[in-house]
Amino acid sequence: MPSRVLIEGGWVFAGEGSGPFDIVGDGVVAVEGERIIYAGPASGLDPSWQPTRRIDARGKIVLPGLVNAHTHHAMSLLRGYADDVPLMPWLEEHIWPAEAHLTGDDVYWGTLLAIAESLLAGVTTFADMYFFMDRVAQAVLETGVRAHLSRGLIGVAPGSDRALEEGKALVSGFHGAGDGRIRCALAPHAPYTCPPPYVARVLEAAAALGCPIHTHLAETRAEVEQIRAQYGKSPIQHFAELGVFQHETLAAHCVHLDEADIALLAEHRVGVAHNPISNCKLASGIAPVPELLAAGVTVGLASDGAASTNHLDLFEEMRLAANLQKVSRYDATALPAWQVLRLATVGGARALGFDRLGCLAPGYLADIVILDLRAPHLWPRHDLTSLVVYSAKAADVDTVLVHGKVLVDGGELLTIDLERVEHETQQRAERLARLGRAARTGPADENPPAPAGEAADPSPRGGAAQ
Ligand SMILES: [Zn+2]
Repeated sequence: MPSRVLIEGGWVFAGEGSGPFDIVGDGVVAVEGERIIYAGPASGLDPSWQPTRRIDARGKIVLPGLVNAHTHHAMSLLRGYADDVPLMPWLEEHIWPAEAHLTGDDVYWGTLLAIAESLLAGVTTFADMYFFMDRVAQAVLETGVRAHLSRGLIGVAPGSDRALEEGKALVSGFHGAGDGRIRCALAPHAPYTCPPPYVARVLEAAAALGCPIHTHLAETRAEVEQIRAQYGKSPIQHFAELGVFQHETLAAHCVHLDEADIALLAEHRVGVAHNPISNCKLASGIAPVPELLAAGVTVGLASDGAASTNHLDLFEEMRLAANLQKVSRYDATALPAWQVLRLATVGGARALGFDRLGCLAPGYLADIVILDLRAPHLWPRHDLTSLVVYSAKAADVDTVLVHGKVLVDGGELLTIDLERVEHETQQRAERLARLGRAARTGPADENPPAPAGEAADPSPRGGAAQ
């Protein structure tokens, strides 16, 4: 018999769709196996349905799990390694030299660190573009989370053929794995790193595999100027004309758009991952989120990698997403709290192509977050949606379920040995920092090899970047 979990007594953010939430006081959520069978007032649940486990949510808020729609999880190893540096020098002088020395084991441990941080912050699903992605898939399968995974592909770098083969192998090996918890995509990194013939090869492979695309688009003004100079069109128009959007596409950033770009994204149902903190910290700009939503574009919220954002906390991202739109328009009504919370839940789920995910409603996948409201910053209670978006913190997350299983219980990770992860990642981060610095300053005696049995990625620019 499948497990039956009953979450009872909380304020349940119920209801399908992308409008304001239907908040039910003293509500229940009934989970059978991996799916929600009921969410609403206790009186509406069939009294003959008996749970195998009860979770007391009295005085707590019950939310759909948060979806991080674009990240490079293993870049957590480079958190704080190079801050306050412009995008291109940041990549070329700091990140890429360090990444060139990453091993599969580094990526595995860095991903575990990011999954631990994310779960404790209520993030149940993430979209990751990186390399050694089979090791990321391993981390996802072991920890029980949900993910959209892709091997970053850079057509201008040595090793681009091998990278494409790895990307295809990831899709063949892991698409649908973990009882459907993993979706896989091919990831041409960006228009400025993937020339048209390479994009064509990636699309041919995507068509053969029937898999989606994950990419970065229109992140900076410099990118738009470069693509216009090279191809006479915007990055969005350019990728549309290359046929990228004939495939289900997840596009990170989409900061610098004109009306025609927005219409193209809507027409082709491109999912957009909005990264407010990364776009601020790397001085990229502010994405026109209200215009995208008005045009019917699906938008999710994202952190980007922790090397640029320095954390994977979607509560912080929600707050900044709302505040950026308000201050840049001198309009306090722009992007209200409920809309931001929808971006962080069902918006992201749809952008990543997961079916029946991101809402607390019958038939939806049981990815659920329970917030403890005992801290002083959560008193008094007026509007509970405002409380979640403008006042709650990642540390308020108490319990997390993914695919019907409890992965965080009373603030404790059940599937990750956090102490071991912290130790492993510190050792590995110190090695990478030494190697990255040595690559910038020339050969040095302090240049240790990769740990025994671990091969570093031989291609520079392994495929990450923001
Ligand atoms: Zn990125």
